[in-house]
Amino acid sequence: MLRSGMVPAIRSARSRRAMSIVLLGIVSCQMGGCLRSSSRAGHPEAGVVSTADRRIRVRLAKDIPQFTLAVRGPCLIDDDQSHPLLEPLAELGACIVRPDPETPDGLLIGESRVSGPVMRVLPNRDGSLSYGDREYEDREYRGYLVVKREGDGFLVINVVDIESYLRGVLQGELPKYFHPETYRAQAIISRTYALYQRYVNGPQRAWDVTATTSSQVYHGKEGEGSKANEAVDDTAGLVCAWDSPEGRKIFCAYFSSTCGGMNQDVANVKGGPSVRPLEGGVICEYCKASDWYHWPTATISKEEITRAVKPFLVKGGYTHADKIARIESMQIVRRTKGGRAVRLRLVDKNGLTVDMRAEDFRLLINSGRTIKSTWFDVVNEANSIAFTNGRGFGHGIGMCQHGADGMARRGMKAGQILQHYYPGCVLVRAY
Ligand SMILES: [Zn+2]
Repeated sequence: MLRSGMVPAIRSARSRRAMSIVLLGIVSCQMGGCLRSSSRAGHPEAGVVSTADRRIRVRLAKDIPQFTLAVRGPCLIDDDQSHPLLEPLAELGACIVRPDPETPDGLLIGESRVSGPVMRVLPNRDGSLSYGDREYEDREYRGYLVVKREGDGFLVINVVDIESYLRGVLQGELPKYFHPETYRAQAIISRTYALYQRYVNGPQRAWDVTATTSSQVYHGKEGEGSKANEAVDDTAGLVCAWDSPEGRKIFCAYFSSTCGGMNQDVANVKGGPSVRPLEGGVICEYCKASDWYHWPTATISKEEITRAVKPFLVKGGYTHADKIARIESMQIVRRTKGGRAVRLRLVDKNGLTVDMRAEDFRLLINSGRTIKSTWFDVVNEANSIAFTNGRGFGHGIGMCQHGADGMARRGMKAGQILQHYYPGCVLVRAY
């Protein structure tokens, strides 16, 4: 859950601290078929993440029963506390990692047994690590991997330099045909978003961001391309900040695909105190070319709506939620000044009513793919509810990506684009 009110101050140069990666001692152990020991003494150089300030922990998977792993070149495998689990390897051939059935926290790397529950795979050369699971085919990643056995499954985290991370993010977030200046704007807000997440979630959580749309889509080294790489390099270290009453801070730089004409206040969707750059109400005349500036009427059966909404209401502790019968009608009880629905009132066949956030409702129906945004009108029909006059795609907070591209094509620079969508935003260097 994002907590928009907790915003980190920009780190001062004095707080910068080089990440210390302790060199490891050699131990001898049983080696499996997929492992090949390093023939040279000493250890691989661990400079795959430059400093602690630039380190981001990306959760690749959770609760997976096994995964494939390979390192094309020398690597270390330790317990993430600098205690080696295996002697340094010259390479790690493709193998399957799975829980050791004979111990409650051990791991099997191919046929080699290592004690767990935490394993770090630290390649000598950046980008030589390959990982795959049930979700994704094998992909190459920069940085290193931290694996935690949790019961019969694994939590897998890619610890990576944030600049490298961003290279693997941008093409997952923007169409390839978007303007280079749009890529630069996106690089700045993706960097801001990731650092904000790292700050609010803190070290007590094992990861800072996920690799999916719940944070930002990250494809590792395979996601990189010249346009993304140049945008990251051109904006290295730059983040969005604002002058809050408590001083200059970064903020959670939300963005969405298409605003439909005006963005909205983060408080309508996420709650929390006011943050000037995210207060919404910014008129956008630049996203009209988007396929989703208008979207076609979506008609959803009342059964489907009830099926989707009721468990959410019960889980969320809404009054009378467990007594809700078939939803019969819906009305919009609050809109933004632009016309986007903020709160909905649902009425069941017995006349019970419940009010809920429009954005929560939208996301419950086919994960938000059918009702593209909360900018709609509601028409109650006999057995279904129609969402008409739809505009925009996404939550509509902060930068409109298609609008940003429209601005870039009119010659505007990343800084101008960001100051347009995040009023009061200033660009500063985070490191
Ligand atoms: Zn727009």
